Parts: sequence; C-alpha cells; structure tokens
Amino acid sequence: MTELLVAATPGEAQVVLPQTLSVRGLRKSFGSDPVLKGIDLDVAHSEMVFVLGPSGSGKSTLLRCCNRLEEPDAGEILIEGDRLTGASVDLNRMRQRIGMVFQSFNLYPHLSALGNVTLALRRVRGMTRGEAQSLGLEALDQVGLKHKADSLPSQLSGGQQQRVAIARSLALEPTVMLFDEPTSALDPELVGDVLAVMRDMKSQGMTMLVVSHEMKFARDAADRVVFMDAGLIIEQGTPEQVIDSPRESRTQAFLSRVSGPV
Ligand code: ADP
Ligand code: MG
Repeated sequence: MTELLVAATPGEAQVVLPQTLSVRGLRKSFGSDPVLKGIDLDVAHSEMVFVLGPSGSGKSTLLRCCNRLEEPDAGEILIEGDRLTGASVDLNRMRQRIGMVFQSFNLYPHLSALGNVTLALRRVRGMTRGEAQSLGLEALDQVGLKHKADSLPSQLSGGQQQRVAIARSLALEPTVMLFDEPTSALDPELVGDVLAVMRDMKSQGMTMLVVSHEMKFARDAADRVVFMDAGLIIEQGTPEQVIDSPRESRTQAFLSRVSGPV
C-alpha cells in the first residue's frame, strides 16, 4: 500500500491512508452503447456507499468493472492506492481484495454451506482442508449460520443462501466488498436477516459499495448515497441529502418511482 505523508499542522506529520477504493474516469461501452461515461468515485476505509439509479443506468457494470469482471475501456480502479487496472496486474491476487455478492447467490448445489465457503479458501488461498474448515466455520459464524455448516443450499432459505455467499466472500478477508442488489431475489421476510449481516459487517469496519433499492436501509446504514443515471453520477451526499431532499430532477423522479414514501 502506498502511504502519503502530509503535514497536519506545522511541524507535525500525519499518515493519511489512500482511499480504500478509488474509481477514476471510468468509461465502458458495449458496442456503440456507452454505459459508463466517466465515473469518479472514492470509498473511504469502513465507509458504506450506496449506489441508487434506474435500471440500465450502469450500476452493475460499475461494480463489475471494479473487479474486472468487465474490462474498462478507460480509467483506473485503485485499491488502497494499488492499481487494479493494467495488463501486468495479478488479477487473482487483486480479486481476493474485492469480495462480490450478487443478486443470485451462485452457490454450488452439491456442496454444503461449509463446502461452498472452503472451496474458495482452498482454491484461491491454497489452504489445507483443516485450515479452510476452521476459517470457513468462523465466516459462517459471522453470518449466524455455523449451525447450518453441513446443510446443502437446497435445505436453506434464500436469505440463508445469500448469507452463505457473503460468508464465502468474507472468508477471503477482502479489503472491500461489493454488493449488487443482494436482497432483490429474496422474499420480503428474508431481507432483514441479510441486511442485519451487512450492518454487522459495517460495524466491524468493512468497506462496502452497495447497489440496492432498500431505501430504509440506505437511510439508516449508509454513510453516503450516490445517484447514477445514464452512466454518470448525477448527485451524491448523505442519505438525508439525497433521499430526503434530492437536488436533481432525475433523482427526484427516480425516488418517487421506487417505493413511494420512504
Ligand atoms: P443497471 O445495473 O444499472 O441496471 P447495467 O450496468 O446492468 O445497469 O447495464 C447498463 C446498460 O448496459 C444496459 O443498457 C445493459 O443492457 C447494458 N449491458 C450490460 N451488460 C452488457 C453486456 N455484457 N453486453 C451488452 N450490453 C450490456
Ligand atoms: Mg444491475
């Protein structure tokens, strides 16, 4: 990690860590369709940033570019000051620093909850079975599912499956976690448990970039809300600023559409 030394007051130096996640001038087109038109976004250590925006505005593409599931056309992604973009970057190592949780849980159906978590530890981190099991159980404990370690995904509710997927990411001890609509596929009564796990992760100091339409959660838990439309960040601020008194008409129109009064 690159550290910057700046003088806080005359005669005194203070170590300032770079932003945990920095997106600089990110552009991405699919064919002739520009989907990201120059995104700049910083997420500080332990910060939870929410991304709101209409369907098709580029939210998923932004997240996918952050761990290079999509290859950006231009711009840079930095994790703690280290460039993730560039041909010489060891993608597997960098991806360990960025956990990603999707709307679909993507669990292996034939593996137990613990098996799903330990697979990544053994494959990506090269751990022995024993090491992976103890770390995997710890991660399942963090999401409240240690007692379901031996259950198959089909024996778990959607909310529990999503929590296993979160544990699978957490076990790799990422620097930042990206969530793409993590509760959108869940029955309403199961959403709360997943949000509770995310809130818990935040209180433990995890840095998180979250795409979600859970406005109440955004208002309660997010440090900052970013509104995207047509591949650009239109507006950002505290949840109160953006959700309660949006400045831009496009934000206002979106908010009145999503859930009525929030
Ligand atoms: P959001 O997550 O905000 O709904 P997306 O990032 O998924 O938006 O998509 C933004 C735009 O990019 C949409 O018009 C979508 O159809 C298009 N798009 C996304 N992924 C691809 C792809 N792999 N190939 C072609 N077009 C894509
Ligand atoms: Mg999306």
